[in-house]
Amino acid sequence: MNPWPMMNWTAGQADVPERTLRAQARPPLAHTDPAFVDLFARTTGLLRQVYRTTHDAVIMQGDAALGLEAAAACLLAPGDTVLNLVSGVYGAGYERFIRRYGGEVVEMRVPYDEAFDPDDVRALLVKNPRIKFLSAVHVETMAGTVNPIDAIGRIAKEHGVITIVDTAAGLGAHEFLPDEWGIDIAVASPKKCLGGIAGLTLLAVSPEAWKAMAGREAPLRRSYLSILDWKELWLEQRRFPYTPGISDIFALEATLEQVLEIGVDRHIARYARIAAACRAGVRALGLRLWPARDEIAARGATVVRVPQGVTDRQLIDHLRQTYDVMISGAHSDLAGKVFHLGHMGVATHPTHLGAQLAVLELSLADLGLPVTLGAGVGAALDAFRKWTPDA
Ligand SMILES: *Cc1c(COP(=O)(O)O)cnc(C)c1O
Repeated sequence: MNPWPMMNWTAGQADVPERTLRAQARPPLAHTDPAFVDLFARTTGLLRQVYRTTHDAVIMQGDAALGLEAAAACLLAPGDTVLNLVSGVYGAGYERFIRRYGGEVVEMRVPYDEAFDPDDVRALLVKNPRIKFLSAVHVETMAGTVNPIDAIGRIAKEHGVITIVDTAAGLGAHEFLPDEWGIDIAVASPKKCLGGIAGLTLLAVSPEAWKAMAGREAPLRRSYLSILDWKELWLEQRRFPYTPGISDIFALEATLEQVLEIGVDRHIARYARIAAACRAGVRALGLRLWPARDEIAARGATVVRVPQGVTDRQLIDHLRQTYDVMISGAHSDLAGKVFHLGHMGVATHPTHLGAQLAVLELSLADLGLPVTLGAGVGAALDAFRKWTPDA
């Protein structure tokens, strides 16, 4: 086994383009240097463009989990009722943040291979007018499923409910329009479908969310978890609440520039194209996808049921040990049931998908499963006919 993998085709952190790494490797500036203050302001502006929002963008120094916890910490007061939508392990995990900050949880669930029906969400909001907040996951990475956040956001807005949406694995790969959809706090990370590096939380925060945070009886200020600090110090006074990770911001600027050079719509279209080709390849190999329907399939990673005759660990370890390729499995409730074929960032290209399916086929054959070598690759290539980089 190569101590370092040749390819990182996981569901994130995935491979990163050289341009981003070169940007990150520049000598760090002081956070008080006007050059850095300008660069941070510019990067925040680029983030608003990627979010396609007129809302404020905020960059916090910790991966998406920080932003998700910060949203609960800043918005919830003890006794507030929160509707938590659970269609996978990330939705299920959000309950701990709601409880930690004193919220009362109303849970709505669908099976982990499914997505929510917005009408069910509406019916529950009508029935329970105590609900003040709604937390939902746009793309459930482990399950590879997508929720109709557009409709859910609009319904929540009609009912005056503030929304917290985890789009860590959505932004960049699926359409996401916080203003039109009524999303109050959107949380993303550079490391998934923007093709960047882990370590930052990327937020889009609506005027209603700011009002709710500041209007609370004891607003959260002077805390690492305070989004409000970023508004009152950074957005309003160009001062940092604490020293940002300078090199991470360099990398983020490069990541966002690359997304915007492609164009957000084209970027999304590329992910759609790669994911469809991957599903075609997987099906041609006789494997089964985890999501119940293609319409709800995630685009940053394709989630496949572990076939009979192998375990997820055998398959993942074999790919790593024999072909120096890293793919990922699931954790929590989905552990052992599925594996992920990531196609994020630089991997949203036929060369990567072809090679990924090729080593998957070889690995399945090595492990004694019946495969016709080339079947998956061939089906994916068919889906790529008339490929242009414009998707
Ligand atoms: C990746 C991801 C996060 C961030 O979690 P990490 O532990 O930082 O990887 C949050 N939500 C979803 C849906 C994700 O895919």
